[in-house]
Amino acid sequence: MAKQIQIKYTQVSRYSHRFIECLFIDNEFVDAVSGRKFSTINPADGKVIAEISEGDKADVDKAVEAAKKAFSRNSKWRTMNPYFRGQLMHKLADLVTRDLEYIATLETLDNGKPYTSAVEDVQAGVATLRYYAGWCDKILGTTIPTGDTSVTLTRKEPVGVVGQIIPWNYPFLMLIWKWGPALATGCTLILKPAEQTPLSALYTAALAKEAGFPAGVINVIPGYGPTAGAAIAEHPEIRKVAFTGSTEVGHSIMIAAGKSNLKRVSLELGGKSPLVVFDDVDVKEAAEIAYNAIFVNHGQNCCAGSRTFVHSKIYDEFVKQAKQLALNRKVGDPFDSNTEQGPQIDQEMLDKVIGLINSGKQQGAVVEAGGSRKGSVGYFVQPTVFSNVTDDMRIAKEEIFGPVQSILKFNTMDEVIERANRTNYGLASGVITRDINKALEFAKAVEAGSVWVNCYDAITPQTPFGGFKQSGIGRELGEYGVRAARELDSPLPPLSLSLS
Ligand code: NAD
Repeated sequence: MAKQIQIKYTQVSRYSHRFIECLFIDNEFVDAVSGRKFSTINPADGKVIAEISEGDKADVDKAVEAAKKAFSRNSKWRTMNPYFRGQLMHKLADLVTRDLEYIATLETLDNGKPYTSAVEDVQAGVATLRYYAGWCDKILGTTIPTGDTSVTLTRKEPVGVVGQIIPWNYPFLMLIWKWGPALATGCTLILKPAEQTPLSALYTAALAKEAGFPAGVINVIPGYGPTAGAAIAEHPEIRKVAFTGSTEVGHSIMIAAGKSNLKRVSLELGGKSPLVVFDDVDVKEAAEIAYNAIFVNHGQNCCAGSRTFVHSKIYDEFVKQAKQLALNRKVGDPFDSNTEQGPQIDQEMLDKVIGLINSGKQQGAVVEAGGSRKGSVGYFVQPTVFSNVTDDMRIAKEEIFGPVQSILKFNTMDEVIERANRTNYGLASGVITRDINKALEFAKAVEAGSVWVNCYDAITPQTPFGGFKQSGIGRELGEYGVRAARELDSPLPPLSLSLS
C-alpha cells in the first residue's frame, strides 16, 4: 500500500507542475492577471502541496467574457444538437473514470478524507454526470392550444452564463452537482472551488478540454471568497449563481445578487440536522446509523446528523453503544486503507471544532469519548461523543462541522418534533423506528428538505436535495437541478403560430 501511494504522490507532483497551478479560462491554463498565488495545504501534515494562481475580479471578468462568447447566438455550443451535448458529458465521465485513482488521490491530498471515501465521491460524481448527460435531449417544451386556429409552442431556455461557488468538504462531488445540470441545459459556467481544495477542479477542467467541450463553456477560477467569489456574485453579466457553503456567506450572495442584476440564486447552506431514535428499535443498529450520520467525512457534512435525539427508555444503552463505536474509530493517515477518519480541513476549522467541544464541557455535557485534538501534526480531532446534552448548549445549536456527536434525550413525539424544528436550519433529518406510522408522522412534521427513515444520507442523483428555512433556496439533483439551470417554469419565449 505504501509503495502504491508513493507512486501516486509522484504523479501528483508531476502533473501539478504541468497545469494544475493555473486558472482555466477559455480552454487554456493561464496565470492570474495579478500574478498572485496562494498555497494549498495538505491537512494531514500542514505542508504546502502546490502554489495556485489566485483569481480575483479581473480574472472573473475574463472568464465571463469567454463564457458569454461560448453562449452567444450561433456559437458551437448553442447550436450543438443536445444529443451531442450529452455525448460530451458522457465522454467527460469516461475520462474521470479513466483517471479515477488520480482524482481521488488529489482529493485526499487536498482535503484529507480517506482515500477510499475519495474514490466513492468520484464514483458518485460519475453517476451524477451520466444522469445529467441523459437529460440533455429530454428537456421538452410544450404545445398549448390557444384557439381553433392557433397554438403556442414553448421552449425551455438555458439561463445563460452561470457562476458556481463550492465548498471544500466534497470538492469533486460538489463540482459535478453544479456542472451536471448547467451543462445539460446548455449553460456556460464559471466555477470557483474553495481556496482550501482547488486541485480536483483544475484537473477536471483539463479533462473537460480533453473531452472536447468548446472553449469558454467551462471556466475554473480558484481564489478567495471575498475577492473571486464576491466578483461572481456581483457580476452584472452572470445570470445565475449556484452557491454551496455556509449560511452566513449565503446571505451575502443574495445581497450581491439583489444589488447587481437580480441574478437567479440557488443556495445549499448549513444544517443542524436532527436524527430521532425511538424506543422500538434494535439499539445497536440504530447506534450504527447515528454514528455514520455524524462521523461520515469527519463531521464535515452539511447533512450531518448532529443532534441525535434518543428516547429516554433506551438512552443509556444507546450512549454505551455510541461511545464504543467512536472509541473504535480509526483516525490517521488518510492514505492508509484502514483509516476511517482523516484530518479536519484546516487550522481554522480545527480551532472552531475544539472551541465548540470545550463549550460542551463547560456547559455541562458529559464527554463519553474523545474530547480533544489528536496528535500535534495535521488537523486531527478525536471522534467525540457527548451525552446529557440539552437544547440550550452551543453544541446542540451551532453547526460544528466536526466529528462531534451530541446525544439528547426525549420522551414523546410531540416534544421531539417541536425540539427538532427549533432551529433556523432545515437541511436534513432522520428517524429510526419500526413503526411506519411514527416514521410518517415525523416525516410530515419535521421542517427539513430530506427525511431518511431507518437510514441516513441516502442521496442519489435522481432525488431532489436542498434545505428548508436558512439551509437554502431551491433544490439540486434530479429534475429539480435541470429546472434551476434554465429560465423558470414560464419558459421563454412562447412562440405563437397561426395555423390558418
Ligand atoms: P464558506 O461559505 O465559507 O465557503 C464556501 C465557498 O464560498 C468557498 O468557495 C468560499 O471561498 C466562498 N466564499 C466565502 N466568502 C464568500 C463571499 N463573501 N462571496 C462569495 N463567495 C464566498 O463555507 P465552507 O466553510 O467552505 O463550507 C462549509 C459550509 O458549507 C457549511 O456550513 C456546510 O454546511 C455548507 N455546505 C452545504 C451543503 C449543502 O448542500 N447544503 C453542502 C456542503 C457544504
